[in-house]
Amino acid sequence: MSKRIEFSRKDKVKIIARANGKCEKCSAMLKTGEGEIDHILPCALGGEATIANGRLLCRVCHVEKTADDIRRVRKSDRQRDKASGAVRPKSALAGRKRPKPAPAKTLPPRAMFVPINRTTLAQGGGE
Ligand SMILES: [Zn+2]
Repeated sequence: MSKRIEFSRKDKVKIIARANGKCEKCSAMLKTGEGEIDHILPCALGGEATIANGRLLCRVCHVEKTADDIRRVRKSDRQRDKASGAVRPKSALAGRKRPKPAPAKTLPPRAMFVPINRTTLAQGGGE
């Protein structure tokens, strides 16, 4: 993902003032310091950290929006890679052998563990 450009403090102040204590998406009332400033067009898609591209969102809206942005960015990445021919053919991925996971060591049944009791502790067992 490309570098994230954060809003300047001055712009943040202006965006917060514009929002007037409310989420700019769902209009939920926000307590001071509760809102999160969102890039309407994500940086990864060329969005800039400007007042016009910023808005104050409540936590819920921001989480939703961020998830949506990630999907959009991935989609645009795929489209760009496809267009440039950088995308790997599927067979190359399918043909790559993965190391087989080591077989899990089977543990003896629980009954075979020696229960820790007073006797073993008194004998200095355990350590
Ligand atoms: Zn909201």
